[in-house]
Amino acid sequence: MEHYDIIVIGGGSGGLAVAERAAPHGARVAVFDPKPLGGTCVNEGCVPKKLTWYSAEHMSHAREAGEFGVDVEIKGIRYADLANKRQSMLKDLNQFWSGHLEKLDVTHIPERARLTDKNKVVSESGTEYTAERIVLAMGGAPIVPPLEGAELGATSDDFFEWTELPGSIAVIGAGYIGLEMAGMLRSLGVKTDVVAMEDRVLEMFDPMISQALDQHMEYQGIDRHLGVKVAGLGGKPGAVTIKLEGGQELGPYEKVLWAVGRKPATANMGLEEVGVEIARGGIIPVDEWQATNVEGIYALGDIIGKGPLTPVAIAAGRRLADHWYAPESNPVPVDYDQIPTVTFTHPTAGMVGLTEPQAVDKHGDSVRIYETQFGGLNRAFAEGEVPPVAMKLVCAGDDEKVVGIHMIGANVDEMLQGFAVAVRMGATKRDLDLTIPLHPTSAEELVTLKEGRPGRQKGLSKAA
Ligand SMILES: Cc1cc2nc3c(=O)[nH]c(=O)nc-3n(C[C@H](O)[C@H](O)[C@H](O)COP(=O)(O)OP(=O)(O)OC[C@H]3O[C@@H](n4cnc5c(N)ncnc54)[C@H](O)[C@@H]3O)c2cc1C
Repeated sequence: MEHYDIIVIGGGSGGLAVAERAAPHGARVAVFDPKPLGGTCVNEGCVPKKLTWYSAEHMSHAREAGEFGVDVEIKGIRYADLANKRQSMLKDLNQFWSGHLEKLDVTHIPERARLTDKNKVVSESGTEYTAERIVLAMGGAPIVPPLEGAELGATSDDFFEWTELPGSIAVIGAGYIGLEMAGMLRSLGVKTDVVAMEDRVLEMFDPMISQALDQHMEYQGIDRHLGVKVAGLGGKPGAVTIKLEGGQELGPYEKVLWAVGRKPATANMGLEEVGVEIARGGIIPVDEWQATNVEGIYALGDIIGKGPLTPVAIAAGRRLADHWYAPESNPVPVDYDQIPTVTFTHPTAGMVGLTEPQAVDKHGDSVRIYETQFGGLNRAFAEGEVPPVAMKLVCAGDDEKVVGIHMIGANVDEMLQGFAVAVRMGATKRDLDLTIPLHPTSAEELVTLKEGRPGRQKGLSKAA
């Protein structure tokens, strides 16, 4: 029976991070994953999504170029070309990871694994392996609700296999994955509807972001059917209808996409048998150093139900390995309260820290809000009214510490990273005021905000 110091189940963002950080210290590491290495981010998530998003961005810019006197004739989108290039880039990344693990002497076992004991796993083909430590990093999969006709709908995994675009689509769900897909598809010319039970888009974000994004979606011609419950799908492939509770029917659409969340891949893993606690929704509770309730078994990434983002999984994996093998580097556990997040919607939106309602809940009357909405110079010559760029600072306490930043508009994805550093370091409103603005940019608005108002005592939404 083969023995390792660390067995990692799942070769995605988190699993690979712990493996590559531990191996140089001489740890014997095995990574199980039946799929090409890289996990969701590489194969069905961030990377193919951002590549597709760029295509949609180029299309939007081409449409707007005429406003600045640039003559562009848009002939359409060669989507099969894009899909092929995208696929070959993903293969390169898969190969990079295989080669990288080989160089580090990490064994990749291309099979599913399941626990049979607290320090033992068995591969699909029946071989048993033991380890001092087992790291669970199986990620998750899109949820397809058990509704009548649900199989007529596709998922985000399917989306990345398409080599042609549908003529029309309904995206069910108003979280970031669904809205990113809706924005890309619409920009690429697909008639797009969003159908969701939430009352507002991006419910987890500050209400200002939801409102502004909604205006942009309206401007782009995306119909939103919010506050409705889907009862099932009907029709046939290529002409799918959506049945709503109450009897109304939407469609037909050439495609329907389920984007109603992701479930952790923790079922049928032998976890219950070994005694690993599994909480509601299939997530695995862990302590600050990713330890489960069973000694020697750790969990990180999407399966722990906190901050389901690639850099969070990577940080957890690297810091865990440092905690074990390089304590002298003074590793600290991941702070799940200060995770900057951006959505690659059209336009991009981003946040770090608390939303206004969350800040009011936590800091009460001491909350002060600074916000602005303006038309970016990039649309200065657009005909008619253009939806705004919107920014908000959430401050709290006598010293007006910045506890939240929210923005939506072109390039806010690139702006937020630096501001997230400032928030982490405890920046106050005065620190921002004393910072010389970069002019003329949109980002400068965040360091020139004046005349704050008290936080609204009642949030606009239950979740925000
Ligand atoms: C459409 C989409 C877009 C996204 N966009 C972004 C983004 O822009 N930015 C961002 O930060 N995050 C994004 N994410 C989220 C990001 O992909 C995940 O948070 C991240 O991949 C989680 O890493 P992980 O290590 O937990 O799991 P994963 O990367 O999902 O890896 C888990 C791996 O475990 C393997 N596995 C599962 N079960 C077993 C088993 N029993 N045995 C062996 N192997 C197993 C799987 O095959 C998989 O390869 C996106 C996700 C999706 C779906």
